[in-house]
Amino acid sequence: MAKYNGPVCKLCRREGEKLFLKGERCLSGKCSVEKKAYPPGQHGKTRRIKLSDYGMQLREKQKIKRHYGLLESQFRLVFDRANRKKGITGENMLKMLESRLDNMVFRLGFAGSRRQARQLVRHRHFTVNGKLVDIPSFEVRPGDVIAVQESSRKMPAIHEAMRRIREGQLLPWLQLDKAKMEGSLLEQPNRADIPITFNENLVVELYSK
Ligand code: SF4
Repeated sequence: MAKYNGPVCKLCRREGEKLFLKGERCLSGKCSVEKKAYPPGQHGKTRRIKLSDYGMQLREKQKIKRHYGLLESQFRLVFDRANRKKGITGENMLKMLESRLDNMVFRLGFAGSRRQARQLVRHRHFTVNGKLVDIPSFEVRPGDVIAVQESSRKMPAIHEAMRRIREGQLLPWLQLDKAKMEGSLLEQPNRADIPITFNENLVVELYSK
């Protein structure tokens, strides 16, 4: 599957806020948004552009898309499916993004970033309900159990990520059994519980034109 391979910190600087694409580094003083609080490029420091309504909608879409690590075509597919579902399209979209297997692996703490989670899934280190799944976009449903594959349970990268999980940090719609190296989605999250500050309604406005 296609993916963005360029420097990810530039994406955050372009948006002027943290998109949390690099795990631990994002929470440290090494974060590029903190060190270079201006857009990348030759004129980044000096150029100031006032965004139009369209520009704001576009930027918000880019933030959400990049935060979850999707390319345009993949993101558009999610939006179109969310739009066909009953309910509020923007919320449907976020719930679908949160239910992706790569995101769940990251949220459960088996990987330090979504990018790493995606790679671990692609390399067949996880099962869902006992069956090996190597598709990052796989939709996890409430009650599904995600586990580290038996033969991957000694992987240092997974243990390193799990070491960082702290009690009480897990999101309310998830359950984790650290000893068994498995976790599950208890229920679809409420919008208010999804810890992102982006405005998904601007994406709906953008794609509804
Ligand atoms: Fe973005 Fe993380 Fe890089 Fe900071 S460290 S610029 S939050 S990817």
